[in-house]
Amino acid sequence: MKPSKRRIPLTVRQLIELDGCTRCEICKDECTVYRLVKEDPSINFPQSYAALIRGFRQIIRKQHGLLASIFGSNLPKERLTAYAEGLFRCTTCGRCRTFCPVGIDTRSLGIAIREYFVQQKIYPKNFDLMKDGLKSNFNVFNLPYVERNFWGDYAPTPVNFLGQSEQVECEAVYFVGCMTSYSPTIQDIAVATTSLFDKVGLKYICLGSEEWCCGYPLILAGMRDEIEWLKKHNVERVKALNPKIVTFSCPSCYHTWVHEYAPHLPGVRLMHSTQLLYEMIKEGRVKAKPLEMKVTYHDPCDLGRNSGVYNEPREVINSIPKISFKDMPNTRDKSWCCGGGGDVEMVDENLPYKLAKTVLDEAEGTGAEALITACGQCKRIFLKAVPKHGKKLKVMDINELILKSLE
Ligand code: SF4
Ligand code: SF4
Repeated sequence: MKPSKRRIPLTVRQLIELDGCTRCEICKDECTVYRLVKEDPSINFPQSYAALIRGFRQIIRKQHGLLASIFGSNLPKERLTAYAEGLFRCTTCGRCRTFCPVGIDTRSLGIAIREYFVQQKIYPKNFDLMKDGLKSNFNVFNLPYVERNFWGDYAPTPVNFLGQSEQVECEAVYFVGCMTSYSPTIQDIAVATTSLFDKVGLKYICLGSEEWCCGYPLILAGMRDEIEWLKKHNVERVKALNPKIVTFSCPSCYHTWVHEYAPHLPGVRLMHSTQLLYEMIKEGRVKAKPLEMKVTYHDPCDLGRNSGVYNEPREVINSIPKISFKDMPNTRDKSWCCGGGGDVEMVDENLPYKLAKTVLDEAEGTGAEALITACGQCKRIFLKAVPKHGKKLKVMDINELILKSLE
């Protein structure tokens, strides 16, 4: 349900949820960030999701309650700013939602509270830089938009970019996403995904410099109203190609397209690459060769908990003969966040790498030599966190793993 443009941008359900929190604090020890605060009190984060809710309830009362409507609000701006410091350190992973006995949709509520703070003009300044980047170059990094397809230079065979390829038939559009297109440490995911499509004969097209950010970072920032122009552009480009499928290696792009774009693309299947791969495996189109490797799998929040895609990645991994797969203790809706969600890196650049340790510890405990994930942002965070925490794990995207098994 989308919030209205009321003074308090919360749905009726979310307003009820604010009052519905019983303060049981079950979410406290299940919070990705709070469990770290116990070890490092310098991290500016409230004691639990309940504390976030409690704080926001007080803010609403003081800003919009009866007394405030008669005498005006006397809530000092410093109080709002202090609250926002914690709010924008939540990774919006939604893990607390899994454990909440009342069923509070903590992730959606957290994003709605962010929208309130954006209305109050209290939000991290880096969000304005991100907005500038989107306006100038249609990507969150504000890198030249013409460089969006530069990752194609690393591909072993020419990538089918819109306007550069002679291919006219288009089975699937591969929407690469800002992070994978521009971030040097994970551009190899785009290379692996297109190489994989070439190997199995899937007729795909990438939009290249005509691909614009899907708008997800703006949604997380509490700026959902600002994504419409990006959405309109991407929908028009896809419609012109008339594909059967739009596929994504980025779970956050996938989640955004499913929730925001789908009504504009009737008849087009929106599939994360793991769903597409699983379908092609079942059709016999992808036949993995034996690979002797011990692996575990990290459920990315936006693919697993927030989109319900748990089985397909595991089926894809287990389709590889001789692979040894073992799950971590916390998986599926209980999986820990890699630390890279919620635009948190724009607020506290070191926090994601500290948060990643929880997953790395669990992955190491399985005896795996490689931690497989299905998200560029997870891979990017883990790659940097592995040496920081003295780990020896390899980190691979699932498309890279399957490609390796085909070679
Ligand atoms: S969404 Fe994640 S980081 Fe935010 S309060 Fe819940 S568990 Fe903690
Ligand atoms: S688990 Fe749910 S009801 Fe309990 S304190 Fe957390 S948000 Fe409130």
